[in-house]
Amino acid sequence: MQTVETIRNMQHRVRAVQCDGKRIGLVPTMGYLHEGHLSLIRLARAHADFIVASLFVNPKQFGPGEDFDRYPRDPARDICLLEAEQVDVLFCPSTEEMYAPGHQVYVTESDVSHTLEGESRPGHFEGVLTVVAKLFLAVQPDVAVFGRKDAQQLWLIRKMVRDLNFPIEVVEGPTVREPDGLAMSSRNAYLKGAVREQAACLSRALREAARLCAEGEHNAYRLRKVMMDVTTAAPDARIDYIAIVDRETFAPVTMVRGPALALLAVRFGATRLIDNMELETEDPA
Ligand code: AMP
Repeated sequence: MQTVETIRNMQHRVRAVQCDGKRIGLVPTMGYLHEGHLSLIRLARAHADFIVASLFVNPKQFGPGEDFDRYPRDPARDICLLEAEQVDVLFCPSTEEMYAPGHQVYVTESDVSHTLEGESRPGHFEGVLTVVAKLFLAVQPDVAVFGRKDAQQLWLIRKMVRDLNFPIEVVEGPTVREPDGLAMSSRNAYLKGAVREQAACLSRALREAARLCAEGEHNAYRLRKVMMDVTTAAPDARIDYIAIVDRETFAPVTMVRGPALALLAVRFGATRLIDNMELETEDPA
């Protein structure tokens, strides 16, 4: 695996790959890799010949007082894992390389980016879309792979690709979970002891909503109430939001009449976890 640290070298490297007629796949990450990330690399491999993984903890997507400084990092371990997956290039720019002094241009979305995660974390999605656009321009992939774990982020990246005409196919991977249902996340490293056990309440609440919805409960208020009850059964859980949205528009729904998504964000002390699950209904739309 080759390690590339500058945008110029990255662009130079992919030009040679493109000349060979190879399809380039990009998997952006913030490192501290787990099976969820590795599943996306395997998925990229199924869609491309030359795999670039990026490792960049993007300061622009963390708000003041959030966990940028203490975000878990272990680049030596990440490199071993990426080598074992036969990744071709690791792109790991420094903050100064990605954001040269005087950087002023950002990518914003003016609707869905202000809801849910965007409401709890102002500026978060501007940081995400800006860094993803910059990674797209550095790596110029044919296909980029993202996880459904970050469903709103995925929706907004698809929107950016459409609205700005990036010639990139977006591929999504399913959420990889721990045996008790907790969605894998680098931030799970913050969870210790009893709180780690309680954290399974997010997926439990989502599974319960999905089950009830499949059985015919389509009232979003009642589905959210059930999710709230399951979540608050964990004594240290503090709900940030619980929402049910249309999968196409990401707008909140009052009745589940077509493909929908249940989402929640829950705090355990200083640790904030998110998760989501698809809701299916047999009803005609
Ligand atoms: P992150 O390093 O947290 O920025 O995540 C990098 C990519 O991995 C994003 O596309 C995430 O949606 C994805 N991802 C994170 N956790 C999981 C998971 N448990 N299963 C599948 N994909 C994930």
